[in-house]
Amino acid sequence: MTHDPSDAAIEALYLESRTFPPPAEFKAQALVTQAAVYDEAEADWQGYWARQAADLLDWDEEWHTILEWDRPFAKWFVGGRLNVSVNCLDRHVAAGLGDRVAYHWEGEPGDTRTITYAELLDEVQRFANVLSGLGVGRGDRVAIYMPMIPELPVAMLACTRIGAAHSVVFGGFSSDALRDRINDAEAKVLVTADGGWRKGRANLLKPAADVAVADTPSITDVVVVRRVGEPVEMREGRDHWWHEEMGKVAATCEPVSMGAEDLLYLLYTSGTTAKPKGIMHTTGGYLTQVAHTHKYVFDLKADRDVYWCAADIGWVTGHSYIVYGPLANGATSVLYEGAPDHPDKDRWWSIVERYGVTILYCAPTAIRACMKWGAEWPQRHDLSSLRLLGSVGEPINPEAWMWYHTHIGGGRCPVVDTWWQTETGAIMISPLPGATTTKPGSATFPLPGIAAEVVDEQGRPVGEGGGYLTLTRPWPSMLRGIWGDPERYEQTYWSRFPDRYFAGDGAKLDADGYLWLLGRVDDVMNVSGHRVSTTEVESALVDHPTVAEAAVVGARDETTGQAIVAFVTLRGGVTADAEHGEALRAHVADKIGRFGRPKTVIFTDDLPKTRSGKIMRRLLRDVAEGRDLGDTTTLADPAVVDEIRRRAVATP
Ligand code: ATP
Ligand code: MG
Repeated sequence: MTHDPSDAAIEALYLESRTFPPPAEFKAQALVTQAAVYDEAEADWQGYWARQAADLLDWDEEWHTILEWDRPFAKWFVGGRLNVSVNCLDRHVAAGLGDRVAYHWEGEPGDTRTITYAELLDEVQRFANVLSGLGVGRGDRVAIYMPMIPELPVAMLACTRIGAAHSVVFGGFSSDALRDRINDAEAKVLVTADGGWRKGRANLLKPAADVAVADTPSITDVVVVRRVGEPVEMREGRDHWWHEEMGKVAATCEPVSMGAEDLLYLLYTSGTTAKPKGIMHTTGGYLTQVAHTHKYVFDLKADRDVYWCAADIGWVTGHSYIVYGPLANGATSVLYEGAPDHPDKDRWWSIVERYGVTILYCAPTAIRACMKWGAEWPQRHDLSSLRLLGSVGEPINPEAWMWYHTHIGGGRCPVVDTWWQTETGAIMISPLPGATTTKPGSATFPLPGIAAEVVDEQGRPVGEGGGYLTLTRPWPSMLRGIWGDPERYEQTYWSRFPDRYFAGDGAKLDADGYLWLLGRVDDVMNVSGHRVSTTEVESALVDHPTVAEAAVVGARDETTGQAIVAFVTLRGGVTADAEHGEALRAHVADKIGRFGRPKTVIFTDDLPKTRSGKIMRRLLRDVAEGRDLGDTTTLADPAVVDEIRRRAVATP
């Protein structure tokens, strides 16, 4: 079927036709191998989720109503009671799995710690007592600003034990970002560390925390983990050392039975497109869906797998797939503190080899960085333990998918491209690796129990072609709102299309019903009346053998409305000159047509990214149009933008 571009919300330009059925060896051992599971879930989707909740979790009290849907406000498993820390820890220990490793932790300097489920339970109970001793109780908020050390999940789980909600703030954020999030949540206690290791340096957190807390009237106490050993100021009466407090408290702490709809945590979105929003997640539905997706998307065998999600706990991927999903399922995970290229560019691969990692979950940005560094780095290590690869955070371009599949997965591992958001709480669109034939660059289908549709401007399903990605019914781990702003919740997510949750992302549906994520609709470019997605132009650029990463934006243009400006990072050893820019423009025209051809190609060593590894196109648009930069508080490395500005000025 052909689609008239004039009524398409976003044009579909890129054609990718390679397909990868589940490898026979993988399928033979997979948890789910039949597509029948989709029909089964569809026949009674609420019943499907209720079965997951009963099957995967231990409840103190069963719910009386699976779903109360007062659009756009959902309540799941109403009347049900449970405790998250009990589900993540106590029940595994009670089942005789206390000696199973919960985390193989590795610090950036090379120090390591192995933490069993029994040890984790012990620390969580103690820290729960520390928090109680500081007056934290049910319904209070605790801010957490820490590096990737074991005390971070301990602090989160300790909150859940006593019914407090946590608000984790990235360790890489500035004191301003921390202050704003603490004040928005009115947190009572802050848990932090003297610092953490990053790229061989001690990145100090306590001084930033001190600056923030000078301006946060709600904070009464600060607990500080000693990690890097640098001297820090401890304010008498307010600041407490973690290790001292842990020695003073009782070893056990009774878990508080929580309602399924009680607040579990607040987490602010990464701010790629707008000012971060305080997303609210609750207890029963959230834990059900993260446990479910962690088990089935990653085909988890908890007694054998060594699972590694190489994200930071400071963003939602870490919450759901380093802490809550894996622990609820009794999995063994790797937890790594530092940078992927310290001391060298094979740090990740040496970790995979040493711990025998079987499942790896990371972001396309990381994969494209590895492409830039070259395949020789993974080749130095035995990666044969890997059996499944996952991707999250951004659209994965087909060539990055192929590189991951070939150079990391040795051609034998299925790749699951998982689409979801802070707001969705858990994975929504993804292959089931033993059942789904994948296509590089496509997140394939909504998971069983989930319903999504691509619609046009008027909210009509497109059938085939590009449009707006919407979710058509509630799901257990959906956000329950924006903290302190119920109207903004309704306005942001439920007003663009009646009766649909609009995610903010574009997507296209192909003739086989596969979904292809096209990036943010705010980023869609309008070139001579054609609505072109950033993702497709970027994929065409990354398809060129010399390109590792690309970001494109539309900049105002007298003749075409907008003109495409491409920021391109080349693979190692390739020269960036005007002639090469021409070659790339021609390649894009060839691959997806002349509307997608960039007017300008700017070569750059790096792109502005959020701390969670997402390209911030809105800043690149500011650069391309010569404006002052918008909110840069969530940017990982502000120096990158200055460098790009210089290059942009130098490029005609
Ligand atoms: P803000 O909403 O403040 O701008 P953000 O959207 O970057 O921040 P997150 O919730 O961390 O914050 O990111 C979710 C977004 O990431 C999705 O809406 C989508 O744009 C992108 N994304 C995540 N996974 C995928 C994927 N597999 N394919 C394509 N895009 C993805
Ligand atoms: Mg978002």
